[in-house]
Amino acid sequence: MSSKNTTMDKIVALCKRRGFIFQSSEIYGGIGGFWDYGPLGVELKRNVKDAWWRDMVSGHDDTTPPDGAPASYSMVGLDSSIIMHPQVWKASGHYDLFSDEFVDCKTCKARFRADHVQDSQCPRKPSKCPGEHADCELTEPREFNLMFKTYVGALINLDAEAYLRPETAQGIFVNFKNVLTTSRSKVPFGIAQIGKSFRNEITPRNFTFRSREFEQMEIEFFCSPDSSQDWYSYWRDKRVAWYVSLGLQSEKLQLREHGPDERAHYSCGTADIEYAFPFLEAGEFGELEGVSHRSDFDLRSHMEGKLIREGDELVVERNEHGQPVHPGSGKDLSYFDDSTQTKYVPHVIEPSAGADRTTLAFLCEAYDEDAIPDEKGVPQERVVLRLHPRLAPLKAAIFPLVKKDGQPEFAADLYRSLKKRWNVFYDEKGSIGKRYRRQDESGTPFCITVDHQTIEDGTVTVRDRDTTSQTRIKASDLEATLAENLG
Ligand code: ATP
Repeated sequence: MSSKNTTMDKIVALCKRRGFIFQSSEIYGGIGGFWDYGPLGVELKRNVKDAWWRDMVSGHDDTTPPDGAPASYSMVGLDSSIIMHPQVWKASGHYDLFSDEFVDCKTCKARFRADHVQDSQCPRKPSKCPGEHADCELTEPREFNLMFKTYVGALINLDAEAYLRPETAQGIFVNFKNVLTTSRSKVPFGIAQIGKSFRNEITPRNFTFRSREFEQMEIEFFCSPDSSQDWYSYWRDKRVAWYVSLGLQSEKLQLREHGPDERAHYSCGTADIEYAFPFLEAGEFGELEGVSHRSDFDLRSHMEGKLIREGDELVVERNEHGQPVHPGSGKDLSYFDDSTQTKYVPHVIEPSAGADRTTLAFLCEAYDEDAIPDEKGVPQERVVLRLHPRLAPLKAAIFPLVKKDGQPEFAADLYRSLKKRWNVFYDEKGSIGKRYRRQDESGTPFCITVDHQTIEDGTVTVRDRDTTSQTRIKASDLEATLAENLG
């Protein structure tokens, strides 16, 4: 019997207990907004990123249009540097505009993001700062740029200033021509990148949902201006279907189209893919991914300089002398289409997902509690992570029932042969019930037990994590059975 009663406290406790996620620098008291992935967490997050890369990039068929796609297209990857030329961030607009407003509480000195203050709790001395923050005396909102600044080289001066990237996207735009020419791609095509991004968030919170160092999985998809609305719809739907295919239930997942007021000034369409995280109130959703139609804004910015909107036009922002405030590279980033003999600056559709938020959503979705009978038939409560087999950190665990009669040797042989193909785990310590429950909490889809019958007839039991049912199969069929069930 399943009783889905997921709270954030339970998720955080499980992550610590089983080695999914730890507070960064914990032995020194931690540092706000930074997290470390432990042995199981690093596998889970790697599986999330690998599934994304496989499904979006390396497994993509360039020769046939996928279901719902306006045409066939190619996908290639990139791994660009975290620190780039500072002009990248000036031309892109991040230097001037990538900021949030903050307010300080005059009573307790706590700092809040201005747009989050209504639903924030006072973190310090509640007695000095009673009630809701809306009642407190707050300073006027002030701007705070979220980019982390650093210095390149031995001298610390203005010329040495550089930034840790706040998104992976700009590394793709500045490499557009390099990739286009070397991969012999033709528009439409996409460039994908997974990598770390950094934002000095004013109030990091809700575990890994809002942190200061996180990983993004971004695609910049380049297409012709005429087809861009069709590609926007295609990517929006494709990305929602990806989350569902890996187990996020559709009622907890929603696609929310932004209204014109919520969109960036250059965007012709933006939709967020959102999940009902347990730290939110009923009916509230948190963003996993933004899918945005960015028009030709990014490539033009890196050609011409920082763009601003004037009426219906995007124009280069200029100073009183008519010079661009933040010049672009001056390089031609337009595309010549052989088939139509036209030249244009490609439009961009950007599905931009967070690997950490996605991993957290999969953890929350998978968390379950139920009761299963132990060896004596007495119901035992268990926590089980019902992770999709593609995402599970460990694919199977192999146990000898007892530590004698040749069972450990047989089990270790099995472990070694399966290990060549999958991340499997060997455990001979503790009662079999405890060993099962440890694996249930780790999300391991199958437990394989070697017992006295194994030694007689070469069969093993395979226990299913979700149903706890056990089937006996020949050890020689194990690899094929696992291959069929692990997806
Ligand atoms: P939010 O409104 O929640 O701050 P955003 O709209 O600024 O997010 P984007 O700039 O669209 O986020 O970034 C794309 C994705 O990167 C987000 O959907 C999210 O999954 C992830 N992301 C952004 N900021 C953070 C963060 N501080 N911590 C973890 N993931 C993040």
